[in-house]
Amino acid sequence: MNIQQIGVVGAGQMGAGIAQVCAQAGYQVIMFDLNGEALEKALSGIATSLQRLIKKEKLTIDEMQGCLANISASTELSSMAQADLVIEAASEQESIKQSIFRQLDDICHPDAILATNTSSISITRLAAVTKRPSNVVGMHFMNPVSVMALVEVIRGLQTQDAVFDQVTQVAKEIGKTPVDVKDSPGFVANRILLPMINEGIFCLHEGLAKAEDIDEVMKLGMSHPMGPLALADLIGLDTCLSIMQVLYTSFNDSKYRPCPLLVQMVDAGYLGRKTGRGFYTY
Ligand code: NAD
Repeated sequence: MNIQQIGVVGAGQMGAGIAQVCAQAGYQVIMFDLNGEALEKALSGIATSLQRLIKKEKLTIDEMQGCLANISASTELSSMAQADLVIEAASEQESIKQSIFRQLDDICHPDAILATNTSSISITRLAAVTKRPSNVVGMHFMNPVSVMALVEVIRGLQTQDAVFDQVTQVAKEIGKTPVDVKDSPGFVANRILLPMINEGIFCLHEGLAKAEDIDEVMKLGMSHPMGPLALADLIGLDTCLSIMQVLYTSFNDSKYRPCPLLVQMVDAGYLGRKTGRGFYTY
């Protein structure tokens, strides 16, 4: 199948970034979110990001206009009917994603590929709620999408090779470097990253050092570009907690226990940059 139109479900920070890089590569992109305000924020965020590229002389005004013309937005999931590839990037909750996949399976044409940008949830289990499990695959982008090169491409148990190959090709066409990863909780990126972030939160919880100093240790000591607490704020503390819960319950291993402070921050609505307050204030 020739992929021409890409649907993006969920227009949060990841969905907006995915829509942008796909549109920049010349794909027709249709973005869906239940929340109209999220769509408006995504469209203005994409325009700002493209203007930044113009300032850096990495993009021309014509290219920016072409990219914006490639993107449309809708609050109706039926808008995905013509998409050849749908990339789901809604909130990291299995029940939400299962419901979306069930509906997409009914709405999309039979050959359409259904991909998920989940950070941790089983691709095999999401595929199993559809009648096309061989056409379901993981495409795990990194944040911020326009900057980060990696895409983990994840096969579910039933993903067919042709589907895996096609999304690998799409990842390359949008300028990313795909890495072949097996379906396992957190895949590779978050199997390693999230326990480190969680441990950083434990350091704060136990009063070992201030947030700024914990981040400084990892930046200066380990050459990390961002400290774990600043990175948690960027990812979103709700997403971090969801990933830790998936690791904890899937492996049934106490080493993945979410830090109580992380749980409390999410309970308080301190989700990081997206709510203006996390370990830092924005
Ligand atoms: P976000 O909170 O910024 O955005 C989530 C969006 O999903 C919101 O706009 C919300 O309105 C929408 N949404 C919720 N339920 C929906 C539904 N039923 N249908 C359509 N839209 C719905 O979250 P995000 O950081 O963009 O994360 C999205 C996905 O990407 C998650 O699966 C997350 O694990 C994954 N991811 C996140 C990061 C990161 O650093 N934040 C990195 C890689 C992957």
